[in-house]
Amino acid sequence: MLRITELRLPLNHAEDALRPAIVARLRLPDDALLGFEVFRRGYDARRKSDIQLVYTLDCTLADEAAVLKRLHGDHHIRPTPDTRYRFVGHAPADFYTSGERLRPLVIGFGPCGILAALILAQMGLRPIVLERGKTVRQRTQDTWGLWRRSELNPQSNVQFGEGGAGTFSDGKLWSQISDPRHLTRKVLTEFVKAGAPEEILFVSKPHIGTFRLVSMVEKIRADIEALGGEIRFEQQVTDLLIERGADGQRHVRGVTLASGTQLRADHVILALGHSARDTFAMLHERGVQMEAKPFSIGYRIEHPQGVIDRARFGPSAGHPLLGAADYKLVHHAKNGRSVYSFCMCPGGTVVAATSEPERVVTNGMSQYSRNERNANAGIVVGISPEDYRQDRGGSGPVNPLDGIAFQRVWESRAYELGGGRYIAPGQLVGDFIKRQRGPAAGFGTVMPSYKPGVHLTDLSEKGRESLPPYALEAIREALPAFERQIKGFSMADAVLTGVETRTSSPLRINRGRDYQSLNTRGLYPAGEGAGYAGGIMSAGVDGIEVAEALAAAVLGVPAPG
Ligand code: FAD
Repeated sequence: MLRITELRLPLNHAEDALRPAIVARLRLPDDALLGFEVFRRGYDARRKSDIQLVYTLDCTLADEAAVLKRLHGDHHIRPTPDTRYRFVGHAPADFYTSGERLRPLVIGFGPCGILAALILAQMGLRPIVLERGKTVRQRTQDTWGLWRRSELNPQSNVQFGEGGAGTFSDGKLWSQISDPRHLTRKVLTEFVKAGAPEEILFVSKPHIGTFRLVSMVEKIRADIEALGGEIRFEQQVTDLLIERGADGQRHVRGVTLASGTQLRADHVILALGHSARDTFAMLHERGVQMEAKPFSIGYRIEHPQGVIDRARFGPSAGHPLLGAADYKLVHHAKNGRSVYSFCMCPGGTVVAATSEPERVVTNGMSQYSRNERNANAGIVVGISPEDYRQDRGGSGPVNPLDGIAFQRVWESRAYELGGGRYIAPGQLVGDFIKRQRGPAAGFGTVMPSYKPGVHLTDLSEKGRESLPPYALEAIREALPAFERQIKGFSMADAVLTGVETRTSSPLRINRGRDYQSLNTRGLYPAGEGAGYAGGIMSAGVDGIEVAEALAAAVLGVPAPG
């Protein structure tokens, strides 16, 4: 097959316009094109009056070699790459019955742990997954408990439980990771098998939405179990068993659960997510190598979705092929900080995402239809480990857990500013920009969607600031700057709700090229919590890569790449 990239047609092109466009592009008679399929469809909305659909197409031709030869040098016409997934190996059926081999453990059943466990199971390695939270259905009830009744379950919430942090999300599936082995395709294919809409395979910015994610996660769980894997819920890992081996190195030998039960294993994948603060502390205490890393903090901003649609798509706003518009914004502030939009959720809601009592954390989610009234996104400022150290007086080395202490300060402040019961502090954008002292009389045209509720206050009140002063200053400068890219962005009635602190992991659990911890053999730090992913897709891809490295070590076969 031959692949054409960057084939552009007007947004409203006729359904049968693709075929003539392909033969014209390849300069072929119509009967030389035996068939074609859309590999990807995106859009270019830079000129609102002339929005274009941009296609990547795989074509079957009567004489492909001749066309490639004739169009040699045209970068948009190439042989279609082989994107099929290849396993590193397969365990024989009696792998665990002959000898004394121990099954691998996967800690955490978020996107990283799910894909790691699935790939291990598909290779016959029968993983045991240990997940501190509950099954996705039970977890949904607990999560609603926080949103509807201000009741937090610290083990079962937006961060913890089957499906991981991305379950109550927008389900955005794109990522900017480099992907020479086409592992994102493997993730998408597994998701479609589990019930995701087929279009995620070809739209350029696929998303699934919360509702479908729930049933997909259950389906993948059933697949893993059918292949001999096990998923054990409400099994929090509280300790690691580490022994020094005959080679003089530290080796993981198993885990201890909150119940006191010990499980022996020589291979353990840590797919913990960024909110497993107690587990990070335990790993640090056990001497597992880790370091503080940069992350970002800020607020969620909400606008009417219609404002964003009109700003991005002009007269084509509401077109079914475009859907609800998103945006991606960056501003480099005068104080040296970068402010950027994070995890934008078109037509969605802001959600309470804390996993710890008496703290407030925001994030965003949506349904597949993305048809809620408001658009929301994190507006966040980059923070470096130097900032935590400066917070402690600017002396001494940065402790790997310092970022967590820093997050907690602002999450507790947000709880206090909201007045309790997990109500979040908020401010109208106009008041925030003007440094309005004291709360506004009420909301304007934008009603915030965060539940259990938003309390209007002064987010910059002296002595009770909701974020460090440098972050407030940078966001205050960025909002009017964003107006130049999205008309209406700094509208006075838009609402800021705080605080957004769990943008990525505040630390990295260092690993080597073999994906194992730098100082503990058999331990595989993975996904977002270990600092190797950011988002559902990259966490899933990292899960695959870690499972492959583990399988290569166990089966004694070469690792890919
Ligand atoms: P997680 O998904 O966090 O999973 C880690 C799992 O480990 C959890 O289930 C946890 O319970 C478990 N665990 C932790 N400690 C232990 C322990 N000691 N013992 C046993 N189990 C443990 N990303 C996107 O790409 N698109 C989006 O639209 C999107 N929206 C989001 C919306 C919200 C509300 C949130 C919170 C996040 C969103 N994200 C989104 C980010 C995305 O969810 C994460 O990047 C992704 O889930 C990380 O995957 P992970 O598997 O590494 O970790």
